Amino acid sequence: MKALSTAIAALATLFVFALPVSAQEAAEPRWSIAIHGGAGTLDPDEMTPERRAAYEAALQNALDAAKAVLANGGSAMDAVKAAIVPLEDDPLFNAGRGAVFTWDGKNELDASIMDGRDRSAGAVTGVTSIKNPILLADAVRTDSPHVFLMGTGAEQFASEKGLETAPPEWFATEARREALERMKARELSALDVDHKFGTVGAVALDMAGNLAAGTSTGGMTGKRWGRIGDAPVIGAGTYADNRSCAVSATGWGEYFIRVGVASEICSRYRFLRITKAYAQSSERREWLEQQNYPQGIADAVMQEVKELGGDGGVIIVTPEGQALFSFNTTGMYRGRATSDGVNEVAIFADVIEQASETP
Ligand code: ASP
Repeated sequence: MKALSTAIAALATLFVFALPVSAQEAAEPRWSIAIHGGAGTLDPDEMTPERRAAYEAALQNALDAAKAVLANGGSAMDAVKAAIVPLEDDPLFNAGRGAVFTWDGKNELDASIMDGRDRSAGAVTGVTSIKNPILLADAVRTDSPHVFLMGTGAEQFASEKGLETAPPEWFATEARREALERMKARELSALDVDHKFGTVGAVALDMAGNLAAGTSTGGMTGKRWGRIGDAPVIGAGTYADNRSCAVSATGWGEYFIRVGVASEICSRYRFLRITKAYAQSSERREWLEQQNYPQGIADAVMQEVKELGGDGGVIIVTPEGQALFSFNTTGMYRGRATSDGVNEVAIFADVIEQASETP
């Protein structure tokens, strides 16, 4: 019996050392969270100190909600929802309350969520009466055989699941209505009137080593013909896979769909982790370590978006606990916190270097 248990212990030790380096690293109990509240043209001179403080407080509030979940051993999925719900309820952001208007004067909401443990995912598009679309997306993931529901069907499912609804007045704000009117009166594009996008998202790593990502938005001002952006499209605006990373995107959705931004970043990082784990020589492994990954990967994918003519940004969390940003706009409402004591919120691009340092 003793011989058997010694043999099992020896096998277990062998198994641990046979794991790729990255898998051993991921076994450390640490957590991290990154959030965004949209990216776009943001000029510090055009923002009053009060408005800036309001955005920073809202971001910190969302970060705190997620930190409380993660620091207490909660799941990355719960942390993502804890961060996104208050941002959806805050009229400052283009998600839930405060969503932009469609050409026809409605607020049509999109959201998606993904669990990196098993790549289960849920998404909704074009819902108009669900108070927190991110919770509906999660209900699609857990309680339906589907991944993506639209419009009235999604709302019928929400009512069967007892999700909280809100009247149109809850979502509609004066500032967003004015943006639509300006757009129509002067034949401007959504980018001219929005300047900043305001979509919200969160990505998290929990102490069990699981990753999750979620994104919620009203889309783009003046959207027509049932237009769907990247936010509810799994692989474009949202992706999570424990083997690689968790990503939530914001920006000009058409380009993010074309590049498949979120899954492209995760695939490239997954490939890198495999390459690193099985690198034959220590020199090769060292060389790979020195490359600016995963920041370099995210920047390269965002560069592709830019080359096609699009703009925006992404937030990323890795299994190693890094929380990163990459954006090609002048600003992105963002924040991050880790179990190593990092806690920061930022808006403008001037602090991008500091904000994108790895912990
Ligand atoms: N990506 C969103 C969309 O295209 C907009 C945004 O991020 O602000 O619908």
